[in-house]
Amino acid sequence: MNVLDLARSEIRALVPYSSARTEARDGAVMLNANESAVPPFADDGTAVNRYPDQQPAALIDRLAKLYGVRREQVLAGRGSDEGIDLLMRAFCTAGRDAVLIQPPTFGMYAVAAHIQGVDVIGVPLREDFTLGVDAVLAALTPAMKLVFVCTPNNPTGQRVPREQIERLARALSDRALLVADEAYIEFADEASAAELIDAHDNLVVLRTLSKAHALAGARLGVLLASAAIVTLLRKLLPPYPLPTPCVQAALRTLSDAGIVAMRARVAGIRAERARLGVALADAPGVREVLPSQANFLTVRFDDAGAVYARLLDVGIVVRDVRRYPGLDDALRITIGTLEENDRVLAALAGVPE
Ligand SMILES: *Cc1c(COP(=O)(O)O)cnc(C)c1O
Repeated sequence: MNVLDLARSEIRALVPYSSARTEARDGAVMLNANESAVPPFADDGTAVNRYPDQQPAALIDRLAKLYGVRREQVLAGRGSDEGIDLLMRAFCTAGRDAVLIQPPTFGMYAVAAHIQGVDVIGVPLREDFTLGVDAVLAALTPAMKLVFVCTPNNPTGQRVPREQIERLARALSDRALLVADEAYIEFADEASAAELIDAHDNLVVLRTLSKAHALAGARLGVLLASAAIVTLLRKLLPPYPLPTPCVQAALRTLSDAGIVAMRARVAGIRAERARLGVALADAPGVREVLPSQANFLTVRFDDAGAVYARLLDVGIVVRDVRRYPGLDDALRITIGTLEENDRVLAALAGVPE
């Protein structure tokens, strides 16, 4: 079976919009796209008067090298949220298909599914928030086209071991796509599953520049998958999804020096995660600090609502995750700078500002 047999037949048959930029791009005089021939006021040399390429070659090359895959296996979009949405629209028929998630997990999978009119089946993580592969496989039905695995998981911080990803990909072969969301993988002890996409044509890996690469405002997410899936999803991608200033910011960030800086930043966050974890475990009112492989700590409190309000009082905003199943006493705290983390500890200890 071809993995594209899982996709919607209308999407497989779709003839995508052919933009002026894709039809012809390298003329000396460009009069085919109704752009302004001259740069805008206060131009910074970015050539923003021109439409960008749908998938700028320099960016795709850089991302392929960074993630260790071939460029045909890379799709860049506006955050990994766009990758999630494209998968939903390409593979799931409204009113008929479903996706499988493991709560408590990232909320966008269910939102994207509901927008597409697709059912969401939740197979809860185990009590310690590890993944139960057998439970996922037991719940699988032919209607389920996408199985999302978030590793490390938001908001619990647990990673999914490589063997489990491989086992799931194998078991789902010819039945569903396995979507491994690795938004936080740079902060984890685990290697990316990206190197498994050659062996498993139903495996999709989501990466993002929003977290470790410090580019949340540039909205750049990356979907890694077989060339067949990437080609199919590109048909759904708008003609010009990536703003030129964002692409340029990404190319600067992904320079060799930028990658060195990212690694140093990640090492600093991991060190702060360890320090803050130990200090929080001893702080008054803390029940438990969940082990985290991401750039946040999720913490159980005797009275999470009161702690949330107390932190807010001194200007510290954390994420209230009490609405998630199994986390009704918890707050999620992003690892900040050393000074910011100290302010959290001082506020919890009741030290006046
Ligand atoms: C932050 C996050 C993302 C990244 O979203 P972007 O759209 O790339 O900014 C993806 N998945 C999870 C689980 C996240 O927490």
